[in-house]
Amino acid sequence: MVNGDMKKYREGTGVLFFLLLLGIGLEIVKPEERWGQKIPEVMIDAISEENVRAENEIARIQNMGENKKIALTFDDGPHPIYTQKMLEVLEKEQIPATFFLLGQNVETNGEVVKEIAEKGHLIGNHTYHHVQVTTLPVEQACEEIDRTNQLIEELTGRGTEYVRPPFGTWNQGLEAELDMIPVMWTIDTMDWMTENVDSIVNQVVKNAGENDIILMHDSYKSTVQAVERIIALLRANGFEFVTVDEVIMD
Ligand SMILES: [Zn+2]
Repeated sequence: MVNGDMKKYREGTGVLFFLLLLGIGLEIVKPEERWGQKIPEVMIDAISEENVRAENEIARIQNMGENKKIALTFDDGPHPIYTQKMLEVLEKEQIPATFFLLGQNVETNGEVVKEIAEKGHLIGNHTYHHVQVTTLPVEQACEEIDRTNQLIEELTGRGTEYVRPPFGTWNQGLEAELDMIPVMWTIDTMDWMTENVDSIVNQVVKNAGENDIILMHDSYKSTVQAVERIIALLRANGFEFVTVDEVIMD
């Protein structure tokens, strides 16, 4: 071998060695092999489409152990189209959820209310007109809640003791007047503001912890799509979905 050939040979091995290292590097960061196990496709989507922080949070959640309770809650329904779609997703996945219903929507979507109850979900009260109860005279605020409870009872055979006050405000006056348990939330998906499914999914996944209560609205296609992915992601990380009474009783 002459000197020139030897030089080319050395350069050639150098390039090969570099490619080999590159190959190993790529192998290490292949997303489906992170954390030493096969990750569902949906999780890979969430990682690649959002930021690295969400990915770190998934790892954090994964290390927290098994059977952590978490509750999906849906406000403002029943919606004539998307509540039905949500019920289909929940049934397919065998997941219970909690629906805080608006009296005015209960009146126009009675069949959906019955179906929510028949499928074993928990029903809560979200007032009749979506009012901020703390800004009303107590009597009127009670009327908003009582009227909605009556409608729910007529359709399902029982009222509810759970109320989610619109805008999250409650006070002692209402506490004294009404035999209701106010239920707030710990994770707000802001799903009413965006149609971006990735953003809704990541808002939940990066914040999810034991006994969290997730606030969503069963009035949007994007929320239905997000819920399918949220279920898969949280399940893969040891979460168990429960109705909200099981979380607040803990
Ligand atoms: Zn609401």
